[in-house]
Amino acid sequence: MGNLKHYIKALSSGESYYTLKVKLTYICNFLAAFHLLLTVAFFLTEIYPMMIYCAFSVFFFAVYIRGCIRKEQFGFSVLVSIFEVLFCSFAATFCVGIEAGFSVYNFALIVACFYLSFVIEKFRSKESIPFFLSLFSALLYVIGYIIDNVNGPMYALPNEHWVHAFHVANYVVSFAVMIIFNFLFVWEIKSNQNILETQNDKLTEMAHIDPLTHLMNRRSMNTHLQQSMDALRSSGKRFSLVLCDIDDFKKVNDTYGHDAGDLVLVNVADIISQNMRSGDVVCRWGGEEILILIHAPLETATNAAERIRQMIAEKVTYYEGQAIQVTMTFGIAESIPGYKIEHLVQQADDKLYIGKKNGKNIVVF
Ligand code: GH3
Ligand code: MG
Ligand code: MG
Repeated sequence: MGNLKHYIKALSSGESYYTLKVKLTYICNFLAAFHLLLTVAFFLTEIYPMMIYCAFSVFFFAVYIRGCIRKEQFGFSVLVSIFEVLFCSFAATFCVGIEAGFSVYNFALIVACFYLSFVIEKFRSKESIPFFLSLFSALLYVIGYIIDNVNGPMYALPNEHWVHAFHVANYVVSFAVMIIFNFLFVWEIKSNQNILETQNDKLTEMAHIDPLTHLMNRRSMNTHLQQSMDALRSSGKRFSLVLCDIDDFKKVNDTYGHDAGDLVLVNVADIISQNMRSGDVVCRWGGEEILILIHAPLETATNAAERIRQMIAEKVTYYEGQAIQVTMTFGIAESIPGYKIEHLVQQADDKLYIGKKNGKNIVVF
């Protein structure tokens, strides 16, 4: 029961709960059990050719098709099963007449054909398979109908009650099959949608976020820079750019190894992003260079940079028992109406260069 609850919850959220193999095994078990019921019904009504055929079908599904599914021959199993059901409904209609309702499986089969072709990888791109199978199913229905009208049933059921019983049972089962397969179809589509959405989110993240530091990458920073430039032009909102670079980072790599360097870089990125106000944007501009877009004039940006510079200088990164400390140099430029973004970044870079020339670990504005 708990299992069923989980299953229905998974269905409604579009999660894939059962594998194709399990789903096909369930369908196969159902077909075997259903043919067993038919065997009994045809025995009771003394329609012996159908009884023998259905008894054979029980073994066919329970042993042969189950074996094929176990060997993962999904396409073959499904095709052969569809033809078996088509033949069985046609033969039953031929034997006991259209009134007994066996031909209604031709409708249910159309729904099943489209669902099964969708879930089987090999058939997914071949829409013609369910289409022609459906046409064939419709054709068999018409032929069964004509034969019944021209010749009447081959065997008579013992009485009217049996005709009604078969009729009602076949309609009920057919409706159930149609409802279940439609439900499964919706679930399958939802599940595929979920997968695509997750992949899409991942791709979006990969396109905008630097995988090591989890800061924004240069591409998305350019979008923010452009927006800030537009805001400056339209409403005079000033901003500042802070370009910072870890001092003597090559030495860190050479002394402690590249992995240690990575860890230092991640820590530096964390300190910066955690200490910016919301709305300010931090990005990994290049190797160990970080660019910060601060929505404030030069003075505020300088104070923020100075605060961060001290924090970074005080931060100790431990790597394999070794304590590593680095410093950072900062160059700041303030937005100037009419300037291009490249020129502003260049200005910040020039200031950074001056800082590097003047002993590093300073903020230059
Ligand atoms: P300076 O104070 O003048 O900036 O000296 P520096 O050694 O930091 O400068 P330089 O630009 O010559 O060297 C930067 C080094 O940063 C070189 C490169 O191997 C390293 N680096 C760049 N990206 C990464 C990274 O993602 N991980 C690690 N571990 N090192 C990186
Ligand atoms: Mg450096
Ligand atoms: Mg550098």
